[in-house]
Amino acid sequence: MLIAYNNQQQLFLPYQYTRKALQRYRRQMKFFCPQCLEQVQLKIGNYNIPHFAHFTKNQCSQLFAEGESTLHLQGKIQLL
Ligand SMILES: [Zn+2]
Repeated sequence: MLIAYNNQQQLFLPYQYTRKALQRYRRQMKFFCPQCLEQVQLKIGNYNIPHFAHFTKNQCSQLFAEGESTLHLQGKIQLL
């Protein structure tokens, strides 16, 4: 998923930051799934865009794996 809550209960959008900044945030912050509120990990790869992933696969992570979720979330963000 492309969005999560940080430990200050603020929505955090990785694509707004550089990889270098994200690597720092990853050490400083914890991130939580906006849907199930489980802790998630921030993945910063060279090939994929930075994103969050559940530590364990659950039903929620399968929902987020759907291709249209990105678009759906962007729509949600614009509504905020
Ligand atoms: Zn979740």
